[in-house]
Amino acid sequence: MASDKMCKLAKKELHNKDSKAFKKLVDSPEFFCRKCGRVANKKGNLCKPQKL
Ligand SMILES: [Zn+2]
Repeated sequence: MASDKMCKLAKKELHNKDSKAFKKLVDSPEFFCRKCGRVANKKGNLCKPQKL
């Protein structure tokens, strides 16, 4: 779970009604992915993290 990238996780979690855990990972984003454009609190959740 911890090693899952946000980019990959998002696709899965968007179809999950219980998305609280997912939202916690992006509630105060500090990084975005240069590849997918997604944001996350931690760079470990992104494949090409860049500080916001
Ligand atoms: Zn990505």
